Amino acid sequence: MSAEPVDDCPDCVDDSEHCHWAWVRHPDGWGECLALECRFGPEAHVVVIACVDVDHGCCA
Ligand SMILES: [Zn+2]
Ligand SMILES: [Zn+2]
Ligand SMILES: [Zn+2]
Repeated sequence: MSAEPVDDCPDCVDDSEHCHWAWVRHPDGWGECLALECRFGPEAHVVVIACVDVDHGCCA
């Protein structure tokens, strides 16, 4: 289930564990990865988005 290496991703170059899916952060502080099987925390995510900026349907 590992992601494809991305040439311009510094974490792929470093070979450190991280997730290419977007971490969705909610206004009240909790968050989740868009990949259901993701086992990483928010700090391991290259992309962090606010749920209100996407049509996530949770905190609108
Ligand atoms: Zn990467
Ligand atoms: Zn993830
Ligand atoms: Zn939300």
